[in-house]
Amino acid sequence: MDRTERRDHAERAAPTLAVFKLASCDGCQLTLLDCEDELLALTGTVRVAHFLEASSAVRPGPYDLALVEGSITTPADAERIRAIRASARHLVTIGACATAGGIQALRDFADVDEFRRTVYARPDYIETLATSTPVSAHVDVDFELRGCPIDRRQLLEVLTAFLAGRKPDVPNHSVCFACKRRGTVCVTVARGTPCLGPVTHAGCGAICPAYGRGCYGCFGPAGTVNLSALIPVLHRDGLDDRDTERLLRTFNAAAFAPYDKEVRP
Ligand code: SF4
Ligand code: SF4
Repeated sequence: MDRTERRDHAERAAPTLAVFKLASCDGCQLTLLDCEDELLALTGTVRVAHFLEASSAVRPGPYDLALVEGSITTPADAERIRAIRASARHLVTIGACATAGGIQALRDFADVDEFRRTVYARPDYIETLATSTPVSAHVDVDFELRGCPIDRRQLLEVLTAFLAGRKPDVPNHSVCFACKRRGTVCVTVARGTPCLGPVTHAGCGAICPAYGRGCYGCFGPAGTVNLSALIPVLHRDGLDDRDTERLLRTFNAAAFAPYDKEVRP
């Protein structure tokens, strides 16, 4: 086997990576392209078989690892995700849209037909579902990576872990832990600033409290969520029920909703 044949053989033997998009803004896929320093090493390790954000060259499945961005908002999405699942050995969802329905899940709290009538001149052309749901509501998911957008270090850890056949080291703890680690003074305790850090998944490095503002939950719920303890503190710090509801209903509206109902029937 000559050098070219050896290279072709190695390329064919490399695990295949596919990246798919459903209803989303593309921000999480861009995080993969933002891994500038690591991208060359990554593309030397995996065969990128489907990633329309980066290349129009598409290789058919099956794929070793599929990353899926975006939520299920149309009947076509619901069908497509089943085909993606069938083509992927491992399926990892990336971002608030794919793991929690995203900001578009605000439709879950409203009348989607009213939106359709208000926004479109010919609403009869629009095929949509009444809800925006995470991928895990439709098919089995091997790992969910939170964030809006996701964090590049966590993404690289997930990719490395799946390539090495181990569990990703992405702990389920809250933003509060990250504040303690970087020595940030708690904005709620020191200044009475409303903050969702105690119930929000870590991953951003606790950016907002480090700059003196409260967390508004863009990484979605942490592994343990105690909203019944947090909500009285938010009230103490000046938020009424409506403000609290608005704070919880942003990027991960649907993910916080079950806890929300528990606290305020
Ligand atoms: S999670 Fe946020 S950044 Fe990622 S695709 Fe959805 S809206 Fe965009
Ligand atoms: S809102 Fe919260 S989770 Fe999002 S970047 Fe700020 S501190 Fe991090």
